[in-house]
Amino acid sequence: MSKYLPHLFSPINIGSIELDNRIVFSAMHLGYATEDGFVTDRLKDFYAERARGGAGLIVLGMAFVDWEGTGGVGASNVIGIDDDKFIPGLKELVGVVHNYKVKFAAQLYHAGRYSLKAITGLQPVSASDIKTRLNPESPRELSTAEVVALIEKFGEAARRAREAGFDAVEITGTAGYIVNQFLSPLTNRRSDRYGGSYKNRLRFIIETIESIKGKTGQDFPLIYRTCGADFVEGGLTQSDYQLIVGEAEKAGIDAVGVNGGWHEAPVPEITMQVPRGAYVFLAEGLKSVVSIPVIAANRINDPVLAEELLTQGRTDMVGMCRSLLADPELPNKAREGRFEDIRFCIACNQGCLDNLMMRKPIACLVNARAGREREYHIKPASARKRVAVIGGGPAGMEAARVTHLRGYEVTLYERSARLGGLLNLASLPPGKDEISNAVAYLSAQMDKLGVDVRLNTEVTTETLQHGNFDAVIIATGSEPAVPDIPGINGPNVVMAEDMLSGKARITGKVIILGGGSVGCDVALFLAHQRATREDSAFFFIKWGTGSGVSCKDVLSWQQQAGSSITILEMAPRIGRDIGITTRWIVLGELEKYGVGTVTGAEVKEITTDGVVYELEGEKKKLLADTVVLAAGYCATTALVEKLKAAAGVRACYAIGDCVEPRKAIEAIREGFEIGNKI
Ligand code: SF4
Repeated sequence: MSKYLPHLFSPINIGSIELDNRIVFSAMHLGYATEDGFVTDRLKDFYAERARGGAGLIVLGMAFVDWEGTGGVGASNVIGIDDDKFIPGLKELVGVVHNYKVKFAAQLYHAGRYSLKAITGLQPVSASDIKTRLNPESPRELSTAEVVALIEKFGEAARRAREAGFDAVEITGTAGYIVNQFLSPLTNRRSDRYGGSYKNRLRFIIETIESIKGKTGQDFPLIYRTCGADFVEGGLTQSDYQLIVGEAEKAGIDAVGVNGGWHEAPVPEITMQVPRGAYVFLAEGLKSVVSIPVIAANRINDPVLAEELLTQGRTDMVGMCRSLLADPELPNKAREGRFEDIRFCIACNQGCLDNLMMRKPIACLVNARAGREREYHIKPASARKRVAVIGGGPAGMEAARVTHLRGYEVTLYERSARLGGLLNLASLPPGKDEISNAVAYLSAQMDKLGVDVRLNTEVTTETLQHGNFDAVIIATGSEPAVPDIPGINGPNVVMAEDMLSGKARITGKVIILGGGSVGCDVALFLAHQRATREDSAFFFIKWGTGSGVSCKDVLSWQQQAGSSITILEMAPRIGRDIGITTRWIVLGELEKYGVGTVTGAEVKEITTDGVVYELEGEKKKLLADTVVLAAGYCATTALVEKLKAAAGVRACYAIGDCVEPRKAIEAIREGFEIGNKI
């Protein structure tokens, strides 16, 4: 129980097992198994830390039931459960998790047409031979005998899970994987008993449930993780899934996990642009038709929100996946009311899903230890040293946090009035306010740990000499790049940082020089400022014909908001430094706001009324009242050298963007590493 969040920390049953609380660490592919699917120490360490963190249920993600069904959308090093040879390793993993008061389920997975031949060496298979744009290879249609065999493989995999000691199994019936491929008329054009009518398309999941129950016994809990709706044109809707889970319940499932739609869905589902809890309506829709527990998921990263959803009866449990990657101890902290200690997942995907898509093991922007639990163990210091950290951005704060935790006496110098560095600006564009949580966590830790923080302090030789430091960490960040272009110092040129921070107010036509992530952010920030406010838009949509305004009108107002903004970019495409899972959303937003883009443009001159550029050998001019400079960042090399000389100690290190401007994930990782090393 918890006096802070009584509903979240109340027990619940899934079939024959009782969970201590309502938080599920949902299945997530990690890429920590061996290439051929065996459990590794890295996996054990990762799950041990999450088990210690206090979730009610952990779902191992994901375990392939057949080698030809692994490698979905690039997932490599997936856990294997398609052979008895995997049982000993899985047993060890279960043993590690069962050292704590948490139940452990295994997710059974087959990606169908998403499986990449580059990983499996095999042509993907599916209900029918209908290609997805997410795989260059067309799938082969499974024969009827192969479908029967695949259903048997799900059952056999579940039997192995039980033998390995898992408390339950979960069927991956979401994201457009094989179960969806059988259910949807878009991907199932079969003419045998597994295709055609709704009843026939349903047969695969129903027989899979029966196979699992038959092999494991009716008392062994089975969770069906499903889409709440496909979110693809012509795909299944919420009401279709209400019928499907109703039938699945009759067939014997013990709980339903509810996600958003397919991987192909053109709607953002889990990035920071998605409002927290936006997809709970899907779980709510399924909850209204079943009597077994329902687990809501997607963008529920806050235990307070989770408590609210449970109190309102909108779900029975909450799936927190990336949230526990970011902070494995979130459940224990929430239970104890230590909310300021929670390191929130900011839904950036930088370390997790972007890595997954590049076939790398997943990491986390805010938690450098994720997936490196053994080697990144914080080591207590052997002697107390005095350490100066210069720069209060993410790298500096993380270095100060870790160094302090090791037992050193740390002074953190920041020349501005506020900690957070560039993350403060990065959190300002629309839909990016989650980033401020990364700053809030680190700042709160500075306070809580008692790090001596000196704001508004420019570090000089004297500061360092008087401080008598044993070690100095320089994390002074980067500075905006200013290209050598005629007119760059004109009064009509504004730095992106000044515009975002509100120092510079902009009206009229705007050209943004630079189409990297900052340039895109600036365009969205400006367009958002100029657009009809969301609450006003909703007001008009709500009153519909009564107000004489339609949804279409509101969307066209939004489109006009960005029509006076143009991004000029030298590279052939914009947003090239944005992660693969987020870039399409940023580009989509720019389009919805009507922001213009010109790529392949080499800027020649900034005049008082616009920008002259060259495109494909032709000189052109775009008119503008203001030019915003978003040309990227440079390392502060000279400053670093000056500080190194002033430090006068041998133990002097530079970390983060002052070495080379990169992403926040690198800054925080380097902060952790250096803090743990000195
Ligand atoms: Fe969350 Fe970003 Fe960490 Fe992924 S990398 S878990 S999205 S904070």
